[in-house]
Amino acid sequence: MTHDVPDEAGQSDPLVDVAAEVLRAHVPERGGWCVHCRLAWGRWVWFPCEPVRWAQAVLDQFGGSGTGPEPGEQQR
Ligand SMILES: [Zn+2]
Repeated sequence: MTHDVPDEAGQSDPLVDVAAEVLRAHVPERGGWCVHCRLAWGRWVWFPCEPVRWAQAVLDQFGGSGTGPEPGEQQR
């Protein structure tokens, strides 16, 4: 049972990967709408949309290693 997860310091969590992907896909466009929600699902929702809020909550709890600039938290 091998997953395609890089094992960096044993801090790889698929949930964190998914959350990071969501944050990468769901970005605000000029009017303030979420790009991905509109293009993928045809839904006009304000950013941050629900997936983004979920992803941020996940990264808040479990993430923090190499996924975006996290002020105040640096581990080497
Ligand atoms: Zn969205």
